[in-house]
Amino acid sequence: MFNRWWRRAPPPPIESTLWQRVLQRHRRLRRLSAEDQQTLHQLASQFLADKTLSATHGLELTPLRAALLASYACLPVLHLGYEWLQGWRELIVYPGQFRVRRHEIDEHGVAHEWDDELAGEAWERGPVVVSWADVLADLRWPQAGFDVVVHEIAHKLDLSDGAMDGVPSLPREQRQRWIEVMQTAFDDLNLRLDRGEAAPIDDYAAEAPEEFFAVCSEYHFTAPQQLSAAYPAVAELMTAFYGRSPLATVPAA
Ligand SMILES: [Zn+2]
Repeated sequence: MFNRWWRRAPPPPIESTLWQRVLQRHRRLRRLSAEDQQTLHQLASQFLADKTLSATHGLELTPLRAALLASYACLPVLHLGYEWLQGWRELIVYPGQFRVRRHEIDEHGVAHEWDDELAGEAWERGPVVVSWADVLADLRWPQAGFDVVVHEIAHKLDLSDGAMDGVPSLPREQRQRWIEVMQTAFDDLNLRLDRGEAAPIDDYAAEAPEEFFAVCSEYHFTAPQQLSAAYPAVAELMTAFYGRSPLATVPAA
């Protein structure tokens, strides 16, 4: 009798011409080193083998769309490793139209972001849900501080220690530093808003600690310089956690 459970074959890689199309469409990936692109290719292949992608309301999930979604979902764990994406099975994609955000954590501990159309949500013990319209907007018209998939994946990473509270699973010392830095910046943002001052980052971050982490994650991957200018210690934390942003400026030689 053969015990085969331990020699599970690696997932079939996303076919290379399809992956090249992903790199063409998801432009910031072109800023990654060849090695990082290759790692992301492996992670995204694993994602498609591991997760169920479901589309709603007649949205067609073509192979390109699925591979693009996988590239978005795996970018945050490029340096963390795939194990950070484990513990949930399903990515649900629906055709949403607007990125107007609202937030609520219900009695089941589920964080919801919504308005007339849902932008995304991450269930504590369930799926990640995103609007394809928002993903498409991120692809076509990238905006500083907006990446709906990174936002929802950040909530999943936040849950790695069992609580959605703006703090992912970290070694004790790092955790202490994280809480101090994030709390200081979160308090500063709320104070500025209370005074009627302009917010240096999307004011949605002031909603709750978990939203602050998710929004700062979006900045790390879309506008790291802006985060660094607003909250340098937070930008350093994000880099220490996620690794260097693909959009970080190349340091002068
Ligand atoms: Zn959120």
